Amino acid sequence: MIKYDYVVVGSGLFGATFACMARRQGKKCLVIDKRPHLGGNVYCERKEGINVHKYGAHIFHTSNKQVWDFVNSFTEFNRYTNSPVANYKGELYNLPFNMNTFYQMWHVRTPEEAQAKITEQKVEALQTLEGREPVNLEEQALVLVGKDIYEKLIRGYTEKQWGRSCKELPAFIIRRLPVRLVFDNNYFNDTYQGIPIGGYNKLIDGLLEGIETRINADFFENRTYWESLADRIVFTGQIDEFYDYRFGKLEYRTVRFEEETLDMPNYQGNAVVNYTEREVPYTRIIEHKHFEMFGDAVYQCPKTIISKEYSTEWKDGMEPYYPVNDGKNNALYQKYKELADKEEKVIFGGRLAEYRYYDMHQIVTKNLVFKFD
Ligand code: FAD
Ligand code: UDP
Repeated sequence: MIKYDYVVVGSGLFGATFACMARRQGKKCLVIDKRPHLGGNVYCERKEGINVHKYGAHIFHTSNKQVWDFVNSFTEFNRYTNSPVANYKGELYNLPFNMNTFYQMWHVRTPEEAQAKITEQKVEALQTLEGREPVNLEEQALVLVGKDIYEKLIRGYTEKQWGRSCKELPAFIIRRLPVRLVFDNNYFNDTYQGIPIGGYNKLIDGLLEGIETRINADFFENRTYWESLADRIVFTGQIDEFYDYRFGKLEYRTVRFEEETLDMPNYQGNAVVNYTEREVPYTRIIEHKHFEMFGDAVYQCPKTIISKEYSTEWKDGMEPYYPVNDGKNNALYQKYKELADKEEKVIFGGRLAEYRYYDMHQIVTKNLVFKFD
């Protein structure tokens, strides 16, 4: 009955990269997915000539040349550079926080003027801290960029995204946003960045070339059968489900996407516009064509597709997007991980099985260094 070296549960970036690397080592894989398509969360749906990022905007970025060369060997990546714009009550600001933002906020023109303004904006917050470290996101943001930027560009957006007050959120969330005294709107600090030309499905198709796949195939609906097909299972689904939720359910944040097709070529002039005031219910609007169409190409495609993103608490039946890595959930995950570590025939990998927020390049890196025996 054993027909494969591995049955890979999940055809997202983890499962697809694993299967690709296994095949290169002469191993035979079957990749199954419960969804009606391959690719997991990077899957794109083509509509009106536009690749729509169905499960949320995905921008590939890395400083690892090996990872960049690997993904580009399947499909070339374009020069897309993420440079979101923030809309606060109709005022527009460039992100991440840089000289353009400071000019728009305070009309300062030189790094020296900007630095002086930030220092002045931070005075009150530093006095309140009396020398101690910031303990929550509000305190951290106030000592990083001061009160104007906190109030216009951070507070509302963060509270919508996380569903709780900035005073209750950990300080580290905001530390990863760059603050720069140069005119540079590139959101990421990585060396390489882009979107696969033709969309992410090209990347997934390349990774899975020559590998058997089944869609609409839920591992749990026929567990004994799938397990009987291979020596080993690579599991990229939810780890708590694998163990039948015996210790309880892990929690997630999720996003609801409201998609609209508009009869115009260019709605907002940018792929990402963040709505940073509390009163607008969505966090941002994605205009998908700008990930792959630049210059005149925008106008050669007469329609456009936008998605409004509403950040919500996860309930059963919703897509589990962001692990809530707080103390309670991390402790629960550890209990599942102890069971997982004892498994000899199951490899747990990816965002859901490891209950960790991985960027795409981290998922690829893990598989490039995997030791097959
Ligand atoms: P997934 O893509 O979730 O794949 C898991 C697969 O397993 C799914 O296809 C699922 O259907 C399948 N599965 C689950 N259970 C079963 C079962 N029982 N039987 C069969 N199949 C099953 N990263 C970046 O680098 N840049 C970005 O801009 C970025 N944006 C993101 C935006 C959002 C909204 C989200 C949620 C993530 C984003 N990421 C981004 C992270 C990126 O999505 C992940 O790093 C990557 O997709 C994880 O791949 P994965 O294979 O672990 O998980
Ligand atoms: N953030 C913000 N305003 C913005 C964009 C981001 O306050 O316009 C904050 C928010 O708290 C967010 C954090 O910065 O959680 C990190 O932003 P990033 O874009 O890295 O978050 P992601 O959406 O990738 O989780």
